[in-house]
Amino acid sequence: MRIFGKVRRRPSASWRQATDRAFTLIGDGRYEDAGALLTRAVDLEPWLSESWFNLALLHKFRHDWEQARAAGLRAVALLDRDSGAPDWWNVGIAATALQDWPLARRAWQAYGLKTRGDQAATSGPDNAPVDMDLGSAAVRLSPEGEAEVVWGRRLDPARIEVLSIPLPSSGRRWGEVVLHDGVPHGERTTAAGPSYPVFDEIELWAPSPVPTWVVLIEAAREADRDALERLAADAGFAAEDWSSSVRLLCRSCSESRMPSDEGDGEHLDPHDHSEPGHPGPLGHRTAGSGSLWVPERECGIAAPAGLVRGLLDGWVADSPDTREWRDLEEVC
Ligand SMILES: [Zn+2]
Repeated sequence: MRIFGKVRRRPSASWRQATDRAFTLIGDGRYEDAGALLTRAVDLEPWLSESWFNLALLHKFRHDWEQARAAGLRAVALLDRDSGAPDWWNVGIAATALQDWPLARRAWQAYGLKTRGDQAATSGPDNAPVDMDLGSAAVRLSPEGEAEVVWGRRLDPARIEVLSIPLPSSGRRWGEVVLHDGVPHGERTTAAGPSYPVFDEIELWAPSPVPTWVVLIEAAREADRDALERLAADAGFAAEDWSSSVRLLCRSCSESRMPSDEGDGEHLDPHDHSEPGHPGPLGHRTAGSGSLWVPERECGIAAPAGLVRGLLDGWVADSPDTREWRDLEEVC
């Protein structure tokens, strides 16, 4: 058919077939076979943006960022709309993975995002990392494996810096920067009103040099526990009372709209650790829901080896009658 002099062709039946079959194969994790079919679809309809978009998507699933960027650029070149296209978002993810900052910047702008908060976009060099400060969000680490939802700070549309201390089982660390997908799976609401998306991690973008420790503390009052968290934060690191900040959620609750327990307004605990099934009509245990304070707490600490004992000793020294620690162990 002909619209405003522009020839728009429907993709052929064989293009449809190859594409549909490819997505079934992707669902089964058969990326090699899907790749062959999507490459064939590109050969059948090279002028169709969707052909390249699908191929770029496959390369994203495979974390093949060079190829994802190349195919993604072909897709956006053939787009017939100006902004809001997911094609640009995926180009942004691939460019971020490759630290191709000029392209990442161009992708977010082309998508229609305001990059006003981005210093480099207006004043700094174009090849400086994108820095947009998009506020807080949650990210699901290892969504395909033993998933854990943690909180962090959005550096740009595709990266979150992890500010919770992930549990030892995750093998992950506080301070890591994670590359994540664009479509949220879940939401965390707060009493104050704002709600926060839960994004799925794609891969680790930058590791953290700071190890994780587990320690048993005796904190006579909640304020004693808070003091430890504050002390660690003031030192530029983190402590987190896992006894109150971790709750177990089944997959479907984790991916839905769930209230977040807000500690002191700044913390957006708990983070969610996956569990296999939904536990009956009463639902999931809420973290820290007991009204009685239990002095013995299991805490995670993210701090360098040379600092962690001094930090704990300093915490006890400030109030020896109400504080104690033992069984410090490096876990990740
Ligand atoms: Zn559930």
